Amino acid sequence: NLYNMVQDLKGNIRVYCRIRPSFSPETKNIIDFIGEDGTLVILDPLKPQKEGKKVFQFNRVFGPTATQDEVFKDTQPLIRSVMDGYNVCIFAYGQTGSGKTHTMSGPPGGSMKDRGINYLALNYLFQLSNKRKDMINYDIHVQMVEIYNEQLEIRSCTSDNGFCLPDATMRTVKSTTEVLNLMKFGEVNRAVSSTAINNRSSRSHSVLTVHVHGEDTSGNILRSCLHLVDLAGSERVDKSEVTGDRLKEAQYINKSLSCLGDVIMALAQKNSHIPYRNSKLTLLLQDSLGGHAKTLMFAHVSPEEDSFGETVSTLKFAQRVS
Ligand code: ADP
Ligand code: MG
Repeated sequence: NLYNMVQDLKGNIRVYCRIRPSFSPETKNIIDFIGEDGTLVILDPLKPQKEGKKVFQFNRVFGPTATQDEVFKDTQPLIRSVMDGYNVCIFAYGQTGSGKTHTMSGPPGGSMKDRGINYLALNYLFQLSNKRKDMINYDIHVQMVEIYNEQLEIRSCTSDNGFCLPDATMRTVKSTTEVLNLMKFGEVNRAVSSTAINNRSSRSHSVLTVHVHGEDTSGNILRSCLHLVDLAGSERVDKSEVTGDRLKEAQYINKSLSCLGDVIMALAQKNSHIPYRNSKLTLLLQDSLGGHAKTLMFAHVSPEEDSFGETVSTLKFAQRVS
């Protein structure tokens, strides 16, 4: 269909917007209209109705009532393509508190209800691997990496090949439960208090990488990977209010998020030079951005009026790369 054709022309870059439910019903909600076709209209709370309308266009918009399963349903074809040999990157972008971790991991506490894309994707990969086991023998390896202040830190990993990071100890995984345990191990490895984890996780990029290796009955080899990225919060910090480490963190985040935007935009425009080398994140994901790789960005927004400025900047960023 036409929609898919347009997608192909755009070089396999897709952008979905997700709006989380409002936390404070007493504050004004800036969401004016969500269209089936991916149109989003928001209202500037400081302007009269008509003049304050801003219109954005994405491949899809998920409103506050969208469930994790609904969101995954539109992500599933991309996950399936990993098993067919495509490299895929999925990013969660947005200000802190807009729902990035909810989309990728699910609600805090790790209950099985409302699990996010990380879990649903792995589960689906294992399902497919099982379904195809008479034709293809798949090996699935997982790796968790955190990028903080432009430094790569290995949280926990498995894999004996694929992207080689220094000092990575790697292991094959056979089930989603094993991966969940591994992710917990990764969390525990961050030997800091839970509030420190929350603060820090909003200032670091967390990358869950799944390496897939398949061999069919004739000995043909297939290799691909899936990167699931919970990005650092995109909020701009007021330089007059922060100093020292906090300012340094903010500058690193700004730099790496704008590098990511530059890379995706250069890919969308089919430029001959793609500036991968400008940040650790794009360097890490280089093999999975561009070429035949597929990219999906979730632009997360908060619906409350006090987030209006950040929401506009998130939507502009996302529209720029789409
Ligand atoms: P971020 O990772 O962008 O900082 P979180 O995912 O932690 O944001 O979301 C902030 C809060 O909002 C969390 O308590 C989370 O559980 C909740 N939340 C986010 N998105 C949704 C959603 N779609 N439905 C229900 N609760 C959500
Ligand atoms: Mg988060």
